[in-house]
Amino acid sequence: MEIHDLMKKSQDAETLSKSDLVYLLGLSPDSAESYLVMAEANRISKELATGQAEVHAQLALNLAPCPSNCLFCSFAQVNGVFAEETRLETEQAVAYAKQFESDGANAVFVMTTAHYPFGQFIEISQEIRRNLKPETTLVANVGDQSYENAKKLKDNGFAGVYHALRLREGADTSLSPEKRKKSIQSFQDAGLEVGTCVEPVGPEHTEGELAEMIEYTASFNPAYSGAARRIAIPNTQMALRGMINELRMAQIVAVTRLGMPRTVMGNCTHEPCTLGAAAGANLFWAEAGANPRDTEERTEEGRGETVESCRALFRECGWASWLGPSRYYNGRP
Ligand code: SF4
Repeated sequence: MEIHDLMKKSQDAETLSKSDLVYLLGLSPDSAESYLVMAEANRISKELATGQAEVHAQLALNLAPCPSNCLFCSFAQVNGVFAEETRLETEQAVAYAKQFESDGANAVFVMTTAHYPFGQFIEISQEIRRNLKPETTLVANVGDQSYENAKKLKDNGFAGVYHALRLREGADTSLSPEKRKKSIQSFQDAGLEVGTCVEPVGPEHTEGELAEMIEYTASFNPAYSGAARRIAIPNTQMALRGMINELRMAQIVAVTRLGMPRTVMGNCTHEPCTLGAAAGANLFWAEAGANPRDTEERTEEGRGETVESCRALFRECGWASWLGPSRYYNGRP
């Protein structure tokens, strides 16, 4: 198929096949064809989200050397970035969450490293929930969980989770791909919406790998999919593999949109950038506290964006901001 046939297929609301996706991912990112793909993804995203993008905001309850050793993560023990665990006090966590709420974040994410005690996560989350408005969307970003724990998240006021099968899971991480998938199933079975992403993309990932991951994310009808590039953590083995540039990331964000059914309203990218928003991203994240892509203990002093800076990036690309609870996590069609 030619590019114009694929654009026609997309305009007819058909989801593209794996071979279509491989073809589009193989285009040169700065070719005219690739800009057509980005324009089409932008059109779909704006149509589905009525031209109003969302900004979600994440706080981390802890920072710790993590034995799961995902090579791309600054918390990975093997990377030696952080030597000791630090945990937020409940009051600090509540203060971050309330700040995000008053900044207008459409959802507040609570993150931990994989080995943070689940009971403590629930306890602090209950306090956060009590201090936020009832309509504020709360999302968990935690390690693999059983169905029983997923139910506890739901029962304690979480609308959903962020969970991803990462690229080369099991090879670049010590986690089991099957367990990641099973967790996603458990979250959905418990009534939680699952947001996900094709991540973390590096220059070594082939078009075939990316297309397969796009198809996998589409297969469970997530709240949103999207694409995020790997950020090199200085002086690590993974940093030697390099990073893709924002234009290549924007291309992958756009192709991901074309690989999703129209029931998937959101299309995320991270880290926030105008090229991503111009290529059909309608979800960015603001961050505070620890951040797995940062070597600063408090990412607000490092790589982390604020709700307002994310909105400003969207405005530069002709997006308005959705005001109110996230539509991706609540009551989508
Ligand atoms: S990505 Fe999560 S599980 Fe992997 S090393 Fe980082 S904190 Fe641990």
